[in-house]
Amino acid sequence: MKAVSRLEWWLMDSLPDLEWARLRAFDDGTADVFDCDGKMHAFATLDDARDWLCEDEFVRLDRLEAQDLTGIPLRLEDLLPPRGLTEAELLPRMFQRFQLDDPELRKSILVSQHGGLSETTCQEHGCTRKSLLGMFLCVEHGYPQYGW
Ligand SMILES: [Zn+2]
Repeated sequence: MKAVSRLEWWLMDSLPDLEWARLRAFDDGTADVFDCDGKMHAFATLDDARDWLCEDEFVRLDRLEAQDLTGIPLRLEDLLPPRGLTEAELLPRMFQRFQLDDPELRKSILVSQHGGLSETTCQEHGCTRKSLLGMFLCVEHGYPQYGW
């Protein structure tokens, strides 16, 4: 029976929503990742697991710095990994949608995550807002899931 030798928490690049992934390394050199979709991924080595998370735009929690939260109404100490004894307990806590009452604040966060606004107008028919930097759409049309 292999034992867990190392536990790391990783966060998807989706702040202020928190999408967690748990990485476990085992004493036989293998590793696994439990993600916020409830899937378990097995890896031959710890480095393989970390590479996979990096490619999936996850950031290691203990590598995050205050400057990574610029423009986001969260502090490093607010980023608390989910707790649970089993994967079934963890799963509903692996995705924590940030509750923002103020849509203008969420918009400003999204704009700053894109590095600002571009000089061009949103491509959506009839929209006169500036599009997000590197996108064809404004923040409202680019992120309809927030139901502006
Ligand atoms: Zn638009």
